[in-house]
Amino acid sequence: IAKSIEGEAFVWYDERLLKKIQMENEYKKRMQYALEMEEFKMYLQPKIDLATMEVAGAEALVRWDIPEVGIIPPDSYIPLFEKNGSIADLDFYMLKKACAYLRGQLDRGNEFFSISVNFSRVTLCQQTFHSTLLEIINRFGVPSRRIEIEVTESAFNELPYPVLLMLERLKDEGFRISMDDFGAGYSNLNMIGKLPIQIIKLDREFLKEMDGHENMRGIVICAVDLAHTMGLEIICEGVEREEHVHFLQDIGCDYAQGFYFSKPIPGETFTEKYLTGEMRVPLSNS
Ligand code: C2E
Ligand code: MG
Ligand code: MG
Ligand code: MG
Repeated sequence: IAKSIEGEAFVWYDERLLKKIQMENEYKKRMQYALEMEEFKMYLQPKIDLATMEVAGAEALVRWDIPEVGIIPPDSYIPLFEKNGSIADLDFYMLKKACAYLRGQLDRGNEFFSISVNFSRVTLCQQTFHSTLLEIINRFGVPSRRIEIEVTESAFNELPYPVLLMLERLKDEGFRISMDDFGAGYSNLNMIGKLPIQIIKLDREFLKEMDGHENMRGIVICAVDLAHTMGLEIICEGVEREEHVHFLQDIGCDYAQGFYFSKPIPGETFTEKYLTGEMRVPLSNS
């Protein structure tokens, strides 16, 4: 049988595709194994209330700790997990870790601490998202107001209407919802006013760019005003230096998060550092 060049190219493409699918399946299997083996760890990064300089809560960030390889940061595998459909398992795994942690705090009488969990657009779009979320927090006996749901700005633009309604319902049920990485995507300002969010998280690029670009300060000021005008709270990500803290305090920003205060650290370390003794330990900068 004579093969045309075109036909061969097609076969070659097919094989590559097959190989890719196989690799993705391998990755998926490896991930399911990792979930069972608890290779994923919940790291926590503090969020600081800029009015009191106290730790107001934390963001849960996943770390994949593969034996003999070390810790892999999320940006390298989250997109893959979103593609092969495993991301929801990971997001709910992190929610469970966060709930277990909050349960421990509640048992010690800490009623104020809350944790924000990142949820992928793919996870939010699952039919069973709402019921699974409620089942998990109820199982741990964690009140909804102790959980913040972080959704990245670019995801909001792609959420179907029923999912937006579901978020609205979660807000009514007491969850806090934040728009992550604000300013990094292409938000339609008209839309922000209608979204069921309480908090804007300003993307860390703004503070990074502020060093050396005077007019960036103006943009950060506007973002803080925008949030407050709409009755929302605002947190700045990527706070790395003392000047950032003073600037944000001067312009009335509500919260800050960044390496200046702490990198994301394992849950146990977080407890020792910030939550032992007093219920809300003021931050000493050492
Ligand atoms: P994000 O939600 O915007 O999280 C903030 C990221 O900024 C974290 O990166 C954090 O380590 C980093 N960061 C915090 N403070 C500073 C700072 O002062 N300077 C700099 N340069 N970086 C800072 P990380 O942990 O590598 O996470 C990257 C992204 O992966 C997250 O961005 C989030 O979108 C995603 N992610 C993390 N955990 C999860 C998860 O459990 N589920 C899902 N769906 N996504 C997750
Ligand atoms: Mg986040
Ligand atoms: Mg962010
Ligand atoms: Mg980000």
